Amino acid sequence: MNLPIQEFHYKNGELFAEDIPVRELARRFGTPLYVYSRSHLRRQYHMLKSALQSINPDMYFAVKSNSNLAVINVLANEGAGADVVSGGELFRARCAGVKPSKIVFAGVGKTSEEISYALEEDIRFFTVESEPELERISQHAEELGRVGRIAIRVNPDVDPKTHRFTSTGKSENKFGVDLGRAEKAYEKAARLPNLEICGLHMHLGSPIMSVQPYAEALEKVRPLCLELKKKYPSFRHLDLGGGMGIPYSADQQYLDPRDFAMAVLPSLNGLDMSIGLEPGRFIAGNAGILVSRVQYVKDNPFKKFIIVDAAMNDLIRPALYEAHHEIVPVRETGETVFGDVVGPVCESGDFLAVDRDLPAVVQGDLLAVLSAGAYAFVMASNYNSRGRAAEVMIDNGQSHVVRERESREDLVRGESIPEWTKG
Ligand SMILES: *Cc1c(COP(=O)(O)O)cnc(C)c1O
Repeated sequence: MNLPIQEFHYKNGELFAEDIPVRELARRFGTPLYVYSRSHLRRQYHMLKSALQSINPDMYFAVKSNSNLAVINVLANEGAGADVVSGGELFRARCAGVKPSKIVFAGVGKTSEEISYALEEDIRFFTVESEPELERISQHAEELGRVGRIAIRVNPDVDPKTHRFTSTGKSENKFGVDLGRAEKAYEKAARLPNLEICGLHMHLGSPIMSVQPYAEALEKVRPLCLELKKKYPSFRHLDLGGGMGIPYSADQQYLDPRDFAMAVLPSLNGLDMSIGLEPGRFIAGNAGILVSRVQYVKDNPFKKFIIVDAAMNDLIRPALYEAHHEIVPVRETGETVFGDVVGPVCESGDFLAVDRDLPAVVQGDLLAVLSAGAYAFVMASNYNSRGRAAEVMIDNGQSHVVRERESREDLVRGESIPEWTKG
C-alpha cells in the first residue's frame, strides 16, 4: 500500500487501523464495515487550519462528505462549524453539537420548510444560489420576524479540471449566480426586507488537485468584493468553499495546504474580510476504509472476478464517477491476479475495481477499500434490499459502533400494504 495514510498501515503483513488489526474489527462487527480514524480527521483539520493560520479561517466541515454524527462531533470539538445542503444535514449538525452560529446552508433547491427551519435555528448564513431564493428567504424571515443573513454564491466560471459531474464553478453548471449578474443580485438582496448581506461565497468543484483554479477564481471575484464592501457595511465574509483534493492512488498527492495558502494569500491581501473554508473530502476522505469479505473467486476465460460482500449500494463512487479506490488485502499476499472486484448487486455497474492487478485472495479473505471516508457511506442505498453497512470509529485502541448495521426489519420500516390489495 503506497498511499500516504499513516493511520492505516501494515504490521507483520497485517493491515492495522491505527493500533487495531482490521481482521479483529471485521470479526467483531462483521462486514461490509466502514472504519473511521478519529486521529486522521483531527490531523487533516488542523493541517489545513494551521497552514492558513495568518488568516485564521472559519472552518465549516462539508457535512455531505460524511454526515455521521460522531464524525461531525469530532470536528465540532476541534472548533469546526458545518456546511450543510439540506434540512436533514442541518438537523444532523445540530444533533452532533454544532452551534447554529457556525452553520452555513448551501444548495440550489432549498424548500420553504428548510428555509424556515434554518431561520428558526438562526444559522450563520445562507449560501444563496439564485435570485428567487433571495425572495423566498426574505419572505419567510419576515413571517418569522427574523433576519436572514446571506452570502451569494458567485460562479466565477473557472475550470477546476475535475470530472464533469463534480465541477460546479463553470458557467454551464447549475450552481451559484454568474459573476456578471452578481452585483444585480446583491442590489436585489439590499432591497428585500429582513435580509442582511454578510458576504460572498464560491465553491469550484471537487476534487481539485492544483491551487491554480482557486487563485484564478479569487482574482476574478476580488474586484467585486472590494466594490461590495464599499456599498454594504455588513459585507465582511468571503467563503472560498471546499474541494481540496486528496490522493486516491499512489501517484496522487494531497493538495498541499501550504501551497493553497501561498496561492490565495496574495489575492486576499488588503481585502480585510474574514475567510471561510468548507473542506469535506480533504478531512474525511482518507479517514475511512471499507472492509469487505471475499465471498467467491470466479474464474472466467477472460478474467478473474473477486466477488465481495460490499457493493455499489455501499460505495457508488466507482460506478458513478469511474472513481479509483485502492483495494488492499487485510493479510498481505505478495501475489497478484488480474481482474475485477465486484459486489453481489444485479447490475453490470456494480464494481469496486475493474481490470486491475489485485491481491491474490481466496474465499473468506478480507479486502479493504481505501479512501472511503468521504462521499462513501453517505451515498449508500438499500438497492437490492441490502441493509446499509455498519460504521465504526476508532481512536487510541478503542472502537465504537457509530452506526449500527441495518437489519432486515430496518429494510421494511415504514412500509405497509393497503387493505384493498389484500387477497
Ligand atoms: C460539496 C461542497 C463542499 C465540499 O467539497 P469537498 O470536495 O468535499 O471539500 C463545500 N462547499 C459546497 C458548497 C459544496 O457543495
